[in-house]
Amino acid sequence: MPMSTDVLTRAESICQQRGVRLTTQRRRVLAILCASNRPLGAYEILEAMRDGARTLAPPTVYRALDFLLEHGLVHKIESMHAFVGCNHPEHPHSSQFLICHDCGVVTEIDDAAVTQSLGSAADVSGFRAQRRVVEVIGTCAQCAEKNG
Ligand SMILES: [Zn+2]
Ligand SMILES: [Zn+2]
Repeated sequence: MPMSTDVLTRAESICQQRGVRLTTQRRRVLAILCASNRPLGAYEILEAMRDGARTLAPPTVYRALDFLLEHGLVHKIESMHAFVGCNHPEHPHSSQFLICHDCGVVTEIDDAAVTQSLGSAADVSGFRAQRRVVEVIGTCAQCAEKNG
């Protein structure tokens, strides 16, 4: 079974548990993001959702993205203005992302120690953190190998 199907099934049951609806549009946006191995911008998602000559209005995609973000089913990569599907949406988490600047692949890691030390560093400064997203830019293992 392809991974994206699995993610969609899990998303479906998460929405059910929370009493919200994974509508067709939301589901399609999630499916597109989960099928991609790199982050996609809103307009790339729109393009992927194009139905023959019929183009969806951008607000439709933004609304679907807002819903998916709110429920932790996707994450936003701020530095790329793009979105990725989450691999473990069952539990709330802060994420760190390893972003390869050569091939664009993004790997999500969920390291509780990083989240915790960020939280306490913010506390020390009296800063009320809302989101603790860490984006690490570099070269992935595959690209590093290719480049020698
Ligand atoms: Zn995640
Ligand atoms: Zn790479």
